[in-house]
Amino acid sequence: MTIADDIIRLKKEKNAVILAHNYQPPEIQDLADYTGDSLELAIKAKDAEEDIIVLCGVMFMAETAKILNPSKKVIIPAEDAGCPLADYLTAGMVRDAKKGNPGAEVVLYVNSTAESKAEADITCTSANAVSVCASLKSETILFGPDSNLASWVAEKLPDKKIIPLPKDGHCPVHTEFSPRDAEDAKKKGYTVVCHPECPKSIRDECDLVASTGQMIKEADRSEKWAVLTEKDMVYRLKKEFPQKDFIGFEKAVCKDMKLITPEKLKKALEDEETEITLPKDIMDRAKDAIERMIKIKG
Ligand code: SF4
Repeated sequence: MTIADDIIRLKKEKNAVILAHNYQPPEIQDLADYTGDSLELAIKAKDAEEDIIVLCGVMFMAETAKILNPSKKVIIPAEDAGCPLADYLTAGMVRDAKKGNPGAEVVLYVNSTAESKAEADITCTSANAVSVCASLKSETILFGPDSNLASWVAEKLPDKKIIPLPKDGHCPVHTEFSPRDAEDAKKKGYTVVCHPECPKSIRDECDLVASTGQMIKEADRSEKWAVLTEKDMVYRLKKEFPQKDFIGFEKAVCKDMKLITPEKLKKALEDEETEITLPKDIMDRAKDAIERMIKIKG
């Protein structure tokens, strides 16, 4: 019996579904029932019919699954898998910004805590941030916590005033790249794609800016891709398109995403821990903001 056999057996016995983010280590992606970006995982979690949802990703993703499907037991195999980007913003900061900008609507990236989401009008992911902001009546939008994603949205929607909340929120993985990374890959004949969490100086050097889900949808555009996002996205892309050439960057590692191992996944299924619990009031308010996002197409 291998550890993978044990996980498959436990999953059946417990009637569990395993959802994994595209940045999870290859061995976890291979064990998952479904691998996707934040938006895709949120929708899968909402529709899950199994008794237990095992979220292989970081804490805000597990919280989102619980908020969208509160009657299910949601567990995360590494309770210390946080997100430094989400930690930039507290609920108190959102409340203060709202007081200082009456009339502005609040859009929070799903990479935020449940408490912060409860203060938002609507959430967004990198896949739908532009459509979400475009759908709002208000000209002024408080957008957090990623200042780079905020600047990407502002570029796409020049008629909106996008105020980053806070000014310097960023993902330490996507700010590791330099314009040189894109330039060098282009010289070698690669089409270069980056995630919108990358700073403008990087985005400007790339052929395409895309969420991880969009990277899969747009892969047909080229046979040779250089991928400027977390390194294990390349594993997912190679699995989907084995005939294509993808290169990634070993320096782009999200340490929190790597905290989940097959051993921890097996233990999480055995013990049904760590279970996500949140105050009902926070869940109800955050759910409104997330469900409003899911209704927006694009
Ligand atoms: S890659 Fe960046 S934004 Fe995504 S979970 Fe890791 S630290 Fe957070």
